[in-house]
Amino acid sequence: MPGKKTYDVVVDFDRCKACGICINVCPTKVFDKRNDFKAYPAHPEKCVGCLMCVYSCPDFAIKIYEVVEEEAV
Ligand code: SF4
Ligand code: SF4
Repeated sequence: MPGKKTYDVVVDFDRCKACGICINVCPTKVFDKRNDFKAYPAHPEKCVGCLMCVYSCPDFAIKIYEVVEEEAV
């Protein structure tokens, strides 16, 4: 069985201008708002790697990294 794919979701808070677009486009509701309304990846385990947030963010503030877990031997 191949390793399960998961994703790291990283927001650069210096770039984020709290527009909320990523929160609205993410199909699996990975993001929550921080107190300053910037997008916080509160549920990265829900990410399916669609990259909608990356392509929608006007400030190039989001990066998605694929993580492939090694199988135990
Ligand atoms: S890649 Fe897709 S599922 Fe993952 S955080 Fe971005 S919009 Fe949500
Ligand atoms: S789309 Fe980009 S700028 Fe807008 S809230 Fe999300 S991370 Fe911040």
